[in-house]
Amino acid sequence: LAADATQPDAVAKIFAAKGRPTSHPLIVHLAAIDDVDAWAIHLSDVARKFMRAFWPGPLTLIAKRHPHTLAAVTGGLETVALRVPKHPVALELIAALGRGVAAPSANRFGSVSPTTAAHVAQSLGDAVDLILDGGACEVGVESTIVDVSQVDPLSGPAAVLRPGGVSLQELSRVAGHAVCERQSEAVRAPGQLESHYAPQAPVRLVPKRELLSEAATLSAHGLRVAVLTDDTSLDWPPGVVAISLPADPGQAAQRLYAALREVDQQGCQVALTSLPLPEGMGLAVADRLRKAAGPRS
Ligand code: AMP
Ligand code: MG
Repeated sequence: LAADATQPDAVAKIFAAKGRPTSHPLIVHLAAIDDVDAWAIHLSDVARKFMRAFWPGPLTLIAKRHPHTLAAVTGGLETVALRVPKHPVALELIAALGRGVAAPSANRFGSVSPTTAAHVAQSLGDAVDLILDGGACEVGVESTIVDVSQVDPLSGPAAVLRPGGVSLQELSRVAGHAVCERQSEAVRAPGQLESHYAPQAPVRLVPKRELLSEAATLSAHGLRVAVLTDDTSLDWPPGVVAISLPADPGQAAQRLYAALREVDQQGCQVALTSLPLPEGMGLAVADRLRKAAGPRS
């Protein structure tokens, strides 16, 4: 959901359309690595290494903000989130504007992220002026967010705030040391809220071997049950809707949000699924599923 990141009025419209608290910062999307110095200062060697290795691509870097970077974009923080996306349509848009583009996911705050233009139309409808359709998202889950704003011998190494399209293994390889996840003190990223990315129906995490029996029990109680599973051909009990979620973590990430949306579309009252191993893209998929299953306010 894009706006000129140099225009406070335009940025304000993002928060209005999403229904997102204005204290939550946005990611500024740039056309090229060279543009970062207009938005951030004190970029470390490891930050530059990450840019060269992963941009354009699904990696967001949190760095100290440039004095010219709007507080409306950073949520009043002294840091800014920056990324060069890979999609040709996004890159052309940013290059045509000639400025940074603030752009969170194009959905209402707290609900399931969109991965197609149709999802955006369903979620935001008239709240947006124009929908640019560049096809379905290739990665399927949000970018990995890495904090490189405190990279120095005193305050510690780069840390992942949100797992995503670039894995811890890939980051560690490029950094030359282990890059780990860090739970930050304050909730600065919507992706760090306990409940997020959730369909209307409650989501329950169940060990894989118990999926069938749990689905049978709930449907025997008269509930319409969705099961997100890599085994849609299994003989699921009547009243159980099997929704495909591939075992391969990369494919699961790509399908994840469409699968969560299907839970509501199929009129299910509860969704069951099991977590993938937290390795590679499985870490991001497990993170989103845990948040979809998190306690609701
Ligand atoms: P979204 O807009 O939902 O795609 O998510 C973008 C993420 O980047 C959000 O979770 C933001 O809160 C996060 N983010 C942006 N700027 C910062 C920052 N300075 N510190 C921490 N997280 C940030
Ligand atoms: Mg989002």
